[in-house]
Amino acid sequence: MDKDWTWKTLRVDLQARDYSIEERSSDWVRKFAGGRAFGAYHLFQEVPHDADPLGPENKLIFATGILTQSKLSGASRFSTLAKSPLTGGYGEAEAGGWWGPELVAAGFNAIIIENQADTPVYLWIHDGEVEIRDAQKLWGMTNEECYAEMRAELGKVRIAQIGPAGENLVRYAHIVNELHHVNGRTGMGAVMGSKKLKAIAVSGSATPRIANPELFGELRSWHNKYLLESFYGKYFREHGTASGLEYQNVMGGLPTHNFQQMTFTHASEISSEALEKTYLEGHGTCYGCVLRCKPLAKDEADKRVIPELGGPEYETLAALGSLCGVSDLAAIVRANALTNSYGLDSISLGASIAFAMDCFEASLLTKEDTGGLELTFGNATAMLTLIEDIAYRRGLGDLLAEGVKRAAQEIGPDADQFVFHVKGQEFPMHDPRGKISQALAFSVCPTGADHNTSPFDDMYAKKGVFLDNAAPLGILEPVAQDSLGPEKVRLYTYLHLERSLYNSLLLCQFVATPTTPLTITKLTEIVRAVTGWDMSEWEMMKVGERGITLARLFNVTHGIDKADDWLPDRMFQTIEIGPKMGKVVSPESLRGAIDLYYGMMGWDSEGVPTKAKLAELGLSELISI
Ligand code: SF4
Repeated sequence: MDKDWTWKTLRVDLQARDYSIEERSSDWVRKFAGGRAFGAYHLFQEVPHDADPLGPENKLIFATGILTQSKLSGASRFSTLAKSPLTGGYGEAEAGGWWGPELVAAGFNAIIIENQADTPVYLWIHDGEVEIRDAQKLWGMTNEECYAEMRAELGKVRIAQIGPAGENLVRYAHIVNELHHVNGRTGMGAVMGSKKLKAIAVSGSATPRIANPELFGELRSWHNKYLLESFYGKYFREHGTASGLEYQNVMGGLPTHNFQQMTFTHASEISSEALEKTYLEGHGTCYGCVLRCKPLAKDEADKRVIPELGGPEYETLAALGSLCGVSDLAAIVRANALTNSYGLDSISLGASIAFAMDCFEASLLTKEDTGGLELTFGNATAMLTLIEDIAYRRGLGDLLAEGVKRAAQEIGPDADQFVFHVKGQEFPMHDPRGKISQALAFSVCPTGADHNTSPFDDMYAKKGVFLDNAAPLGILEPVAQDSLGPEKVRLYTYLHLERSLYNSLLLCQFVATPTTPLTITKLTEIVRAVTGWDMSEWEMMKVGERGITLARLFNVTHGIDKADDWLPDRMFQTIEIGPKMGKVVSPESLRGAIDLYYGMMGWDSEGVPTKAKLAELGLSELISI
């Protein structure tokens, strides 16, 4: 079997307009696997602690994983990593789609972008060849305009790119590939814009490296059979994440009017059912994935709403719908298209607009500030106007392009009560008061508030399939839903290490545990079949731990400390209406959970990874840095 897994990193210096190629051995790759662990290792060593996230010293990394080209459903993702302009700390965002596998086919597993070009450029990488090309005529184009222009010139290539928001350094600008697969969070598009890098086009003909094709084929068939035939697979393929909106509303977990309420009177008007009856054209997919969950929307009456720009998922329906009090589905579908056209993270965007609406209703912003907009909750026209103004940094949009933390500092102390962020990153569409694991997850996640590292408490509160799928991690007993006690911290710690492994392997969370039987045991079998290494579950989990520990080290050395592992004050006040009425985060419980988490991770009482932990993870070379 082929055990040679040489890893090729393309290092591009945009200032010198030159590049080099670095190779890593199989043993090194086995330790890091790609994505988070690979990227955090490089960021920690290469980005100075005082680097401006939008300056030349920051680096922007694109990293695939060892499964990326395998055609395992859900394994097509790639990471973008840099110092985040939103948080000033560790930035990371993953995307599915088609770009990652094509980069591997073109001969590279990762790219590290250094310095800044003096004029706009794009990279053209094809079968081992690398060209740095002029992009002045592309600069200023929307994503769909730029995509059409590049495709006309280069043919059927895969393109990761930024829109006007990235060019204009909106702190939550995203990177998009194939127009609707986004590296959404932490402002990676702004970093790309600061480097004057408009796009990276890739094309290649290398075939996947599979050490044991027969065994891998069997495992892949088993996995696909579940995704195609199970109730979960059929339901998710038909409705996608949007189906969560009405459920969240019924359960009292749908953020509404900037987290003032957790139910939305008009939820049925912006639900997946409403979307399916109106603007949903169908579903797309990512390379190799049979789950096909990506919504594609079309509005015959609106030229901006085209299937190529995707359709709204749960987070977008909530952020640009209920959070802003908007019940006009046509407006939300248009807003979704605009986010991918201009290149904006829909979560931070919706949160920034909802924050401004709250400020307007409290008279902290006036019509003079808004350029005449009546910026009340529910005003869909005002929301759509602000999206354009943010992307192009016009008027109030220029302030909101900075994110809620900086905008509140500018507006004044009274605005603090309306901001919901951790470390500067806006809350996703989940309220920790009703989902208590998220209180710990939002607090300690290296990228700030992020809902993807945490289990949902109700899944593990009783015996059943979710708990069964966690059994290979040693989680055998139900854990009380509303507890933040030691059992919940242990549950979170084990599951977030597994998720951290996914972020290094670059595996989509929708195809693995807890919703499918692709457990750590099965995943290890797959990695063995693909690589030929005698990898164990132990080693796999250590990859996840290496990734999260390196991300923590980056934050610690860039000035983010224990005090930043905390929630906004509103989370310590009870929810006043709805099914979750009375739910609250206890500050004492959260403090205890965070301290216990540090201990379980082998970090000291300030949350700093110890020398012993670094040595145990095989990272001794970093101790002196
Ligand atoms: S489950 Fe959906 S998002 Fe995940 S890889 Fe498949 S199509 Fe892409």
